[in-house]
Amino acid sequence: MPELPEVETTRRGLAPHLVGRTIESVLLRRPDLRWPIPPEIAERLPGQRITAIRRRAKYLLLDTDAGSALLHLGMSGSLRVLPPSTPVGAHDHVDLVLAGKARGSARVLRFNDPRRFGCLLWQPPGETHALLRDLGPEPLPGDPGGTAFDGTAFDGNYLFARSRGRSAPVKAFLMDQRIVVGVGNIYVAEALFAAGISPLRPAGRVSRERYVRLAAEIVRILTHAIDRGGTTLRDFISPDGAPGYFEQELAAYGRGGAPCPRCGRALKQAAIGQRATVWCGHCQR
Ligand SMILES: [Zn+2]
Repeated sequence: MPELPEVETTRRGLAPHLVGRTIESVLLRRPDLRWPIPPEIAERLPGQRITAIRRRAKYLLLDTDAGSALLHLGMSGSLRVLPPSTPVGAHDHVDLVLAGKARGSARVLRFNDPRRFGCLLWQPPGETHALLRDLGPEPLPGDPGGTAFDGTAFDGNYLFARSRGRSAPVKAFLMDQRIVVGVGNIYVAEALFAAGISPLRPAGRVSRERYVRLAAEIVRILTHAIDRGGTTLRDFISPDGAPGYFEQELAAYGRGGAPCPRCGRALKQAAIGQRATVWCGHCQR
């Protein structure tokens, strides 16, 4: 599943190919993905110039003066910029045809999503879509939306303040999109391992000092993943490349039963909120 680093890598990879281009037409091969595709997509986008591509949490926003297309890659979605003659595959549900300045330079932005948990929605100018309204701050400094609604930036003090009185496991607390966005199952496992915090510990019983360390690890791990993703950028514009989800060196995630990279004891595995959770009972308290 694309996590925040893949979505951000997608955004960076697509931006030079999309920004400044005019959408000539919109081709919807089915009326819905996870949700119905609203009529504005086909009615308002043609003729509009893409002014920016932004990310909020794991949503991408294609901005035009008429409004923004709001995209989510869901479980299996990918976006490619392709020559218009590229044969259409079984799960290529949407094409935005982009006009070219020179002959032969037209392109299509093609949305492929085999499992159709992704979405394509509409955000009118000056409005915030309902899906984006209650989101917490971005974990990375400098991101659009990188401050909470009250102007609080994401850091250890913020996590400490929001967690007081909460008995839910710290893992569930961090995966709550109202607290912080985009820290999915992989990155929460890696950050808790790096910070030495047990995922089972009640969120309200983690000290300020440990949240400061944890917030720094979240930023470090996400930034590292995005930097690595930069090397696979070409996959987003290649007709035959695999989707740009990248391989990573993981210390905890997916390694239940394997030796802890720090102490060598077997990593534990359990389900928290129906999601597989791996940690070291010795190094994480
Ligand atoms: Zn260990």
